[in-house]
Amino acid sequence: KSGFVTIVGRPNVGKSTLLNHVVGHKIAIMSNKPQTTRNKITAVHTTEEGQVIFIDTPGIHKPQSKLGNYMVSVAENTLNEVDLVLFVVDANEKRGAGDEYIIERLKQVKTPVFLVINKIDKVHPEALLPIIDDYRKLYDFKQIIPISALEGNNTSSLMQAIFNEM
Ligand code: GDP
Ligand code: MG
Repeated sequence: KSGFVTIVGRPNVGKSTLLNHVVGHKIAIMSNKPQTTRNKITAVHTTEEGQVIFIDTPGIHKPQSKLGNYMVSVAENTLNEVDLVLFVVDANEKRGAGDEYIIERLKQVKTPVFLVINKIDKVHPEALLPIIDDYRKLYDFKQIIPISALEGNNTSSLMQAIFNEM
């Protein structure tokens, strides 16, 4: 099995952390500053089951500049070119205009989308259900998977779900 997966989400939700975690060594740039990752960075996760090629995007947001325009178009083109999209959100942050903008873009493509609720190490387990209900109203996600990319909680289930999709 093999396939391409792209990770989208607002800045600082943990996309690079997730990418680094699944690949096992640091290749993406991690920072608290938004938009440090300016290019598509690919990483390969290989197991006996096959390989998953990850693409870290610059982030999809309403463009504010020519560079922003370019970055958004790179991210949007990627959505059509991959087998699966991981839409990462922060369990500790309220859904905002940035998330809604991305969801509108996701509605334009046929690629299946998993909702990855990250940073579950920072919230009470009871807080998860309202988050899931909230996002479910906006988009028919193929799967919804809560994780902690930092601590590695449930990331093996995420990888299994990704392989099952291929
Ligand atoms: P990106 O902008 O979406 O690529 O986000 P980053 O991967 O750069 O992460 C932004 C910040 O969130 C960093 O300080 C990370 O250490 C932190 N972070 C990422 N994942 C988790 C997580 O699962 N739990 C916690 N507590 N922090 C996380
Ligand atoms: Mg990043």
